[in-house]
Amino acid sequence: MFHSIRNKFIIITTLLIILSSNLVFFLAINEHEDLYRQSVEENLDAMSSNISDNLLRVMSQEIDLFSITTELLGLDRYEHIKFVNVFDANWQLIQSYVHPNYLKLDHFTPELTGIKPQGLPHTVNATNQGLVVVKTIGEEQFPMGYLLIVQDYQKPLDESKASLFYSAAPFVILIIALTIIISYWIYQHLLSPLLKLSKFTQKVEKTTNYQLQYKISSNDEVSQLGKDINNLLQTINSQIKTNQKKTAQLLDQKHSMEHLANYDILTGLPNRMYFMNLLKKELIRSKSNNQDMAIMFFDVDSFKGVNDTLGHETGDLLLKAVATTIKRNLRQNDVIARLGGDEFLIMLPNLNDQSKAIHIAQQIVNSMQEPLTINQWDVPTGVSIGIASAKEAAFNIDTFIGNADIAMYASKEKGKGSYTVFNNKMLESNKRKSQIANLISQAITQNEFEIVYQLKMSASGEATGLEALIRWQNQELGFISPGEFIPIAEQVGKIKAITQWVIKRVFKDLSILKKSIRSDVLVSLNLSSHDLKDNNFINAVKSKLVKYNVDISNIQFEITESSYLDNFENSNEFFNQIKEMGGSIALDDFGTGYSSLSYLTKIDIDTIKIDRMFVNQFDSSEKDTAVLKAILDLSKRLGLKICSEGIETASQANYLIAHGSDEMQGYYFAKPVDISKLPGAIKHAKALFKELSVNHQISDKVN
Ligand code: C2E
Ligand code: MG
Ligand code: MG
Repeated sequence: MFHSIRNKFIIITTLLIILSSNLVFFLAINEHEDLYRQSVEENLDAMSSNISDNLLRVMSQEIDLFSITTELLGLDRYEHIKFVNVFDANWQLIQSYVHPNYLKLDHFTPELTGIKPQGLPHTVNATNQGLVVVKTIGEEQFPMGYLLIVQDYQKPLDESKASLFYSAAPFVILIIALTIIISYWIYQHLLSPLLKLSKFTQKVEKTTNYQLQYKISSNDEVSQLGKDINNLLQTINSQIKTNQKKTAQLLDQKHSMEHLANYDILTGLPNRMYFMNLLKKELIRSKSNNQDMAIMFFDVDSFKGVNDTLGHETGDLLLKAVATTIKRNLRQNDVIARLGGDEFLIMLPNLNDQSKAIHIAQQIVNSMQEPLTINQWDVPTGVSIGIASAKEAAFNIDTFIGNADIAMYASKEKGKGSYTVFNNKMLESNKRKSQIANLISQAITQNEFEIVYQLKMSASGEATGLEALIRWQNQELGFISPGEFIPIAEQVGKIKAITQWVIKRVFKDLSILKKSIRSDVLVSLNLSSHDLKDNNFINAVKSKLVKYNVDISNIQFEITESSYLDNFENSNEFFNQIKEMGGSIALDDFGTGYSSLSYLTKIDIDTIKIDRMFVNQFDSSEKDTAVLKAILDLSKRLGLKICSEGIETASQANYLIAHGSDEMQGYYFAKPVDISKLPGAIKHAKALFKELSVNHQISDKVN
């Protein structure tokens, strides 16, 4: 109640009105009392003079008590006269009069009042008995007697005051009530805009709607305050809008930062970091529920080839298409992430056993069998998947991923477009891999490597070329084939040292080779894709050519089709330089790499080495024969020299020679042998060549 200014005003005003009206009332009564006293005293004085005059007349001859009494009885009509005493000149009481009103009072006698008239001055005196007046009857010097009149004063005064009070009180109350009502109305009227403003601000506070505006209806101070509040609200509102904009921008930035931090920009899939966090959590959950889960590690077969031949844009689209295709085979809670490059990881939670993971892997492999159409190109691709189980990895994240990685490499070794479930035996081979990797450096310094040479026979039966093939006999591990250690050396970055060793060794052997075979013998060296990536490689070759006085026309570099396609640009650069210098290039294992043949029109090579897979299988079905024939025809049309690898039988040799193969290489003619055994191998090969039916046909025709 006292919190409201209006109520405070009203209460204070009411109290003030009551106080002031009471004060006025009190002053009025006091004034009334003074006036009353004055008039009573005057009247009493006048009345006592009259009576004393009258008594003088009565007492001037002889004291006549009867006349005195008659005179005094005339006072009956003055109801407030208490009593009257008449004394003679010697203050002896002659007669007393008591008003009938006071006679009624018990024991009232004038003597009992205790008033001693002799000593009193002859004016009206106020005593506790009332107003007392003493008058001399007759002259002061010759008094006939004395008159004492006592008049009641307090009672009539009280009665008069009461009557005044009762007549004035209703008016006073009315005035107070009216004043309160009027002040209430005034305050109400004055304060209502303020209250309206207060209600308005409360509404703003409750709704937090800062767009609200107070309706200004006049020009007073409250309206001014309303205007100020409106301005304040506008400022707050525009500040809020700015803040909202900034907050929205910050949220956007936060979202995009989070997205950038957690997702791969190209595919929109979770990135490595995000995936690893999810995987950690999922492993903890699976472990506590004692439930198995799986991950699949895979990369995209031939991705590098697509990137190099068809461009990065197509490569990017391929990755996106692969991600989309694979996602279709996953369950709702499975998560696929791109780790970088063409490497992906899939998390398969909630598995009872690995059969579901195998089923999904099979579906993925199947779905990737059809070429993906990208930018109007039909790009044949596939994925090599490694599957690992969390239980088998004892729920250890590093072991888990490591196992999937090992399984993926096993898939790659199996052939493209396959999946492999990790098992502990793979760890053994992995152990061997790291052993081999560690032994390579030592093999170079301790001269453990050897070079063997395999003959290449021309279609006319001449030993025209040799392929240098590396061999490694290790004390600990025994014979290690290049098919095993070359990929490991590539993985651990030791292949360049091996290549340099081979080049040096072959360049050193060249003079012997020229002598034992022919001066224009063409010796092939196998290069790795890693050599082609090395910008210094060409210089190293050049310096060795000079150092060992080698004529480059005796040297041919063999690069596998997949190595070439992995390093399309570097390879072309290298080919050009070698060709300019007078050397030659052969494309090794042709037909096993990328199957789009469009690059053949752009590549500057001399020889195509048809992979032994085609040579071996050529007569197993009509289709295989047709494929081999097509490769031979194509190479001829492109003006390339053809070398057929892996010829193991006379019929293979016959067919290939008959269909235009320029060079033949294979166990049928000669296995790779030590340099010292080459002359014998040549002899043997030539003899075998002569027995071929093609030769008989030729000689028959000649005959
Ligand atoms: P490649 O360059 O295609 O060499 C041909 C491979 O086929 C050789 O295996 C050879 O021994 C084998 N071969 C030849 N004729 C026949 C045949 O009639 N039947 C069968 N089954 N095999 C035949 P090798 O020597 O084990 O080499 C395997 C691969 O290792 C080579 O394939 C080549 O890619 C790589 N390699 C060998 N030496 C080197 C080298 O010095 N440097 C590099 N970078 N790679 C090398
Ligand atoms: Mg080769
Ligand atoms: Mg080959």
